[in-house]
Amino acid sequence: MAKLGNPQNTIEILQKYDFHFQKRFGQNFLIDSHVLEKIVRAAEITKEDFVLEIGPGIGTMTQYLAEAAREVAAVEIDRNLIPVLADTLHGYDNVTVIHNDILKVDTCALARERNGGRPFKVVANLPYYITTPVIMGLFEQKAPIDSITVMVQKEVADRMQAGPGTKDYGALSLTVQYYASASIVANVPPNCFIPRPKVGSAVIRLTRHEKPPVSCEDTEFLFRVIRASFNQRRKTLINGLNNAADIPCTKEQIAGAVEALGLGETVRGETLTLEQFAGLADWLRRQPGG
Ligand code: SAM
Repeated sequence: MAKLGNPQNTIEILQKYDFHFQKRFGQNFLIDSHVLEKIVRAAEITKEDFVLEIGPGIGTMTQYLAEAAREVAAVEIDRNLIPVLADTLHGYDNVTVIHNDILKVDTCALARERNGGRPFKVVANLPYYITTPVIMGLFEQKAPIDSITVMVQKEVADRMQAGPGTKDYGALSLTVQYYASASIVANVPPNCFIPRPKVGSAVIRLTRHEKPPVSCEDTEFLFRVIRASFNQRRKTLINGLNNAADIPCTKEQIAGAVEALGLGETVRGETLTLEQFAGLADWLRRQPGG
């Protein structure tokens, strides 16, 4: 099978299978070998590695991953792509295609069965409509993940990296930074895909922290506080938290916590660091009813 990753071979395969792109699956296939090589390099894959690929499409990146890794599992939701993948990945004996929705895959079980429970790497050109749930799900499932190297919308990559006080800073930034260090590896223009997406893209690498950078008594409660603080961005932190149904504290308790942290009563959530959120969550949780 010819190597994919260029317009000609991609179009040939699409025509051979009379493939029709499905918008609802966020299908934008990579046709640039330089970008593919850059992604695989940034992921630092070795012959020891087990790699999970999300959304292999016609198998373009899968071919590159199969050459670099010990083993690849590729999860694809679109049944029309399964016979295409059997064709394009014919000859790679270290790839398993799993026909499923990634949001329904138990990644802990996958790591146990395929990698003896050892840390694995995730690499993907993600379907943009589920970027946030996929990344949150990977971290929250507590699977042993070493790193996640993914193509996402440029704007989402910026949000993952953003710091306090910037317009891009929000619940996604804090959640990603709690679990990993984030660095943008490449900016990728629309002409590297077929069909062309309407927005610019970026490859971001999230390297999992061995230990979270802040300590917090209850992570689930911390993320509830973070989400509530950004739900009503224009409100003060005290009002935002007071209006949140899942923060069982009175306005007085919230105001007390804000004061105890040395913050002014008009402070907004978008100026707090992860460490300050962890302090706030611990303080609120210790209140009666919290
Ligand atoms: N990896 C290929 C490439 O780079 O050319 C395709 C990337 S394309 C942006 C996203 C792929 O994810 C598509 O093949 C799409 O069918 C698949 N996909 C969409 N939603 C999915 C889901 N929930 N679970 C697994 N795959 C999904």
